[in-house]
Amino acid sequence: MTQARTTPLFVSHGAPLLPLQDTPARHFLEGLGAQMPRPKAILVVSAHWETERPTVNAVAVNETIHDFYGFPAALYAMRYPAPGSAALAERVAGLLTDAGLDPEIDRARGLDHGAWVPLILVYPDADIPVIQLSVQTRLGTEHHLKVGRALRPLLDEGVLILGSGAFTHNLRELDRRGPDAPETEWSSSFADWMSRAIEENRIDDLIAYRDRAPNAARNHPTEEHLLPLYVALGAAEPGARPHRLHASAEYGSLRMDAFGFTPASAPSEKAA
Ligand code: ZN
Repeated sequence: MTQARTTPLFVSHGAPLLPLQDTPARHFLEGLGAQMPRPKAILVVSAHWETERPTVNAVAVNETIHDFYGFPAALYAMRYPAPGSAALAERVAGLLTDAGLDPEIDRARGLDHGAWVPLILVYPDADIPVIQLSVQTRLGTEHHLKVGRALRPLLDEGVLILGSGAFTHNLRELDRRGPDAPETEWSSSFADWMSRAIEENRIDDLIAYRDRAPNAARNHPTEEHLLPLYVALGAAEPGARPHRLHASAEYGSLRMDAFGFTPASAPSEKAA
């Protein structure tokens, strides 16, 4: 049987509390695994691992990194001990090298919450091998598209490319009343502009979103939470069919949107 080509995804992982809260975004992620063919392995691009050079981890079993402070004990008790894959890490490093990207392999690091928070909802059994890839915030949108393009062969090898960040991410302006606080205009207008640019495949606008999208710098004072989107997009283009899989906001301005980028030659019109 031929391996179904995977659809690169971008998901917003929101606040670390996501697995403990009853929100639309959590329910979306809990149902996502059932919508997709089961991947052979998962490559997560996490906003919470920033490095100078693209770096992949290669471990036998992933440690669960609780890289946040001041949250309930139940969150620190959560574990996501998915197996790693040294072979896939070598494959990723090889593809990045071929694209001139000078990667590194980290043989110790496990999964930060940018990776395990969504995965514990999408694939709770932690039985699919997972490797993580870092972002290079200083290098911006075009670099991350290039990383995605370099990884495109993985789609035919059953590897799910999962970008994990946030569609908007300004922690200083969160509405502390809670996830149900009413959404701000400055976050919804940005999200509307970005969604339309994604759905219309306006790659030039997406590359230059900081100059062109309304309130871009306010929604992303720093870019690391948006850059995993560009890796997923780069993996699927040219001719990708983007789909918004989920849209919601928490804490007034923290957008939880998710997108799938079905590669052009994939057999199905379905989202994932
Ligand atoms: Zn985050």
